[in-house]
Amino acid sequence: MGKKNIGFIGLGIMGTPMAKHLIKAGYEIAVYDKNIDAVKHMVTEGAKPCESPSDVASKSKTIIVMVPDSSDVKAVISDNNGILETIGTESVVIDMSTISPKVGIEMANLLGSKRVKYMDAPVTGGVVGAHNAKLSILVGGDAETFENVLPILKVMGSNVAHMGPNGAGHAAKLANQILGIGCMVGLAEGLVFAEKMGLDLSAFMDAASKGASTSWMLENVGPTLLDRDFSPGFMARHMRKDLRLVVEAAGDVHAAVPITSIISQLYEQMLSEGDGSVGHHAIIKVIERLSGIKKD
Ligand code: NAD
Repeated sequence: MGKKNIGFIGLGIMGTPMAKHLIKAGYEIAVYDKNIDAVKHMVTEGAKPCESPSDVASKSKTIIVMVPDSSDVKAVISDNNGILETIGTESVVIDMSTISPKVGIEMANLLGSKRVKYMDAPVTGGVVGAHNAKLSILVGGDAETFENVLPILKVMGSNVAHMGPNGAGHAAKLANQILGIGCMVGLAEGLVFAEKMGLDLSAFMDAASKGASTSWMLENVGPTLLDRDFSPGFMARHMRKDLRLVVEAAGDVHAAVPITSIISQLYEQMLSEGDGSVGHHAIIKVIERLSGIKKD
C-alpha cells in the first residue's frame, strides 16, 4: 500500500473535513467529486485534483469513498470512468459512506475479482466528529487489511472498531441509526408535548438533562431545536436514506423494526413537503404540524 498517497472521492459535509485531516497528517491526497467547487476548495488546501474516479485510482493504491448512497458507491466503483477501470492489484478501497450491507458485499466481491480489497468503514459522530477527528468508525473486512488501514482511519476517528467481515461495518452503522433516530424523534416528540402542556421548554430540558432521560441527542441537538436552527449537520434526505436502508436490511433478515418504520414514514412526509437539505432534526416540524402548532 502506498502509505503516503490517498485518493479521496466525495467531498461533502463529511468528506471535506476528513480529507483535510489526512493532509494535515502528511498524506498526499488526490481528490474527485462531481461538484467541481468542492474539488477546487480542496486544491486550495493542497490536494491534487482528478477528473474522475478512474483518474483517482490511477494515482492512488488506497482510495476513500464518502458519497451519499449505495447507487453512488456503485457508480464510483463500476460505472464508466469508475475505480475498477484503472485500479491496480493489492489496492484498497475504504468505503466510509453509509450504504446497504448487501451492496457493500457486492462491491467487495467485484473488487476482489481484481485482487483489490474493499473495507466498509461507515462513521458516526456527525459533522462535529468529522471536524474534530473524533469519529467513531465501524469497520467490516478482513483482519489483516483492517490492521493495514488502521493508521489512516485513526487520523479521522478517535474510535475505530473492527465489527467483522465485509458488510459488518455497514450493518453496525444501520443498527446505530436505529438507536440514534429513536432518541432524536423521542426528543422532538417530548418537546412538542411539553410545549402543548404549557411548560417552559428551557427549564424542562435542563431538568430532563439531569435525570435518566438525558442523552447525547438531548444535550447536543436539544439546544438547536430550542433555537430553531435547522442547518445541517446531517441532512434530512440522508436520514431518510438511512431509514430506508434499515427497513430493507431488516426485511432481508426478518428483524422487526416497528418504531424505525414509523419514523421512516415521518421522514417521507417531511421530504414530500419540502427540501431534504435541512438538518434531520427539522423532523420536529412534522410533529408540531401533527399537533396543530404553526411555526417557521
Ligand atoms: P453530502 O451530500 O454533503 O456529500 C456527498 C458528496 O458526494 C457531495 O459532495 C456529492 O457531490 C458527492 N457525490 C455524490 N455522488 C458522487 C459521485 N457519483 N461521484 C463523485 N462524487 C459524488 O453528504 P455527507 O453529509 O458528507 O455524507 C456522506 C456520507 O456519510 C453519507 O452516506 C451519509 O449518510 C454519511 N454520514 C453523514 C453524516 C453527517 O452528519 N453529515 C454522519 C455520518 C455519516
